[in-house]
Amino acid sequence: MDKLSFKERSRNMSKVKGRDTKLEMLVRRLVYSLGFRYRLHRKDLPGTPDLSFIGRKKAIFVHGCFWHRHPQCKRASIPKTNTIFWKTKLNTNVKRDEQAQLELVNMGWQVLVIWQCETKDIGILKETIKSFLVS
Ligand SMILES: [Zn+2]
Repeated sequence: MDKLSFKERSRNMSKVKGRDTKLEMLVRRLVYSLGFRYRLHRKDLPGTPDLSFIGRKKAIFVHGCFWHRHPQCKRASIPKTNTIFWKTKLNTNVKRDEQAQLELVNMGWQVLVIWQCETKDIGILKETIKSFLVS
């Protein structure tokens, strides 16, 4: 594939990434409506969790299926062009995620990852968040 289509692809992918923010907003609203208060993007915590609950030692990551390679998810397929580039890039993301979660767990924290494709059913998502935060 030529350079142009590579740029095109990158642009498409950054649009996908932009949706992560919308997802995060959705999760924030849900958490707030459940009565929980959180801190955003605390850089002093491993992986800078999207939402953190300091007193409860709990963190929520909201992950786009493509960028974080949701296992067995159809949204997580590697692009057919520039395959090696994408594999390397995305696998780096996955390793970083794993490392951050491991560090948090070692600090006595609990971690919940909310995947993009799991935000379709708000009812289930709400229950998942609730049971994670109250447990
Ligand atoms: Zn997914």
